[in-house]
Amino acid sequence: MKRKIKVAIWGFGAMGSGMARMINSIKGFDLVGVCDKYDKYQGKSVFEILASDNPYDHDVLVEANIVDILKNEKPDIVLLATDSFTKDAFPKIKLLLEHGTNVISTAEEMAYPKANEPLLAKSIDQLAKAYGKTVLGTGVNPGMMMDLVAIVLSGVMTRVDGFQISRINSLSPFGPTVMQEQGVGLTQEEYLLKEKQKAISGHVGFRESAMMIAEALGLELSSFKQTMEPIVTEVERKSKYGHAAKGNVCGVNMKATAFFDNGLKLEMHHPQQIEPELGGVKTGDYIKILGVPEINMEIKPEVEGGLGTIAICVNMIPHVINASPGLKTMIDLPVPRAIVGDIRNLVEIN
Ligand code: NAD
Repeated sequence: MKRKIKVAIWGFGAMGSGMARMINSIKGFDLVGVCDKYDKYQGKSVFEILASDNPYDHDVLVEANIVDILKNEKPDIVLLATDSFTKDAFPKIKLLLEHGTNVISTAEEMAYPKANEPLLAKSIDQLAKAYGKTVLGTGVNPGMMMDLVAIVLSGVMTRVDGFQISRINSLSPFGPTVMQEQGVGLTQEEYLLKEKQKAISGHVGFRESAMMIAEALGLELSSFKQTMEPIVTEVERKSKYGHAAKGNVCGVNMKATAFFDNGLKLEMHHPQQIEPELGGVKTGDYIKILGVPEINMEIKPEVEGGLGTIAICVNMIPHVINASPGLKTMIDLPVPRAIVGDIRNLVEIN
């Protein structure tokens, strides 16, 4: 019998804790460490926090220092769920590579880091190759619903004339990091002030998705523009991590238009808010690809963003471990699929 696949998680928030739950449910995984800076978690058992059974013959306590986990446990892979931006994830990825582990990051910009941080993307690629390890950025979006799915669907077309991609989703599953980035709970005046101070990012990932689609089709991006408007709620909305009083901001409506170098147009629409149903909004994922044959994909309701992100990060583990060293994106690796059997059947490891 092959040895178990050792996984550590850095960032035990909404995404990281969900990944731990999923790892614990799959045969052949061994959760060997969890790191989070939140002081109320320090020294506590992961299984106590998750209120779940421990499937291992050892406990896992939340630690403040990732280096102790890396040195003592030597994980095969670390799931990094702490950041949205490559510049913030970079020092952590560097540290992980220096300790000889593969990395999957949830940072939205890491889904296609060349889009906004080409120099850091190059450094990550060089470091990963030097240490013989693989780094992937992924998530539900960017990473899947507004890019990879459209790319895969284009595979059954003889001619592509344009893309119209919408994701109408709920922000409710996401943690405090996302609530802050989307301005959830702010008054309209606070929103305008924070927008001016560039303290609200809204959805991070349109440019990443556009550039991933361009590369996949053998094109280049020639122009890109995005807009963001606050979504003001007419009723009070409460989710696990967010609260917007009536008349306050419950999310943002984002749109982007990109042109590729052959003139092909990509339109993206992504209104995201907590508890959309309370505002009479029905969620869904829609991909229309103009061309021959025309493609019209609808998934109603949306692929749930929290579970979708948790799943894609865990399900990509075998592909990342099996890959050649370097920085990868979702178009470099085999297509995602669920891990249903023993993870050891899917991994080439000694
Ligand atoms: P969250 O706020 O619930 O969790 C983040 C956790 O990381 C917190 O527990 C925090 O204490 C911990 N943390 C932050 N910096 C740390 C550090 N230096 N050391 C140790 N712990 C640290 O956020 P979340 O909802 O779990 O999301 C995590 C990140 O993933 C966010 O930036 C979010 O935008 C991103 N994300 C991306 C996608 C996608 O589709 N690509 C989807 C979901 C989330």
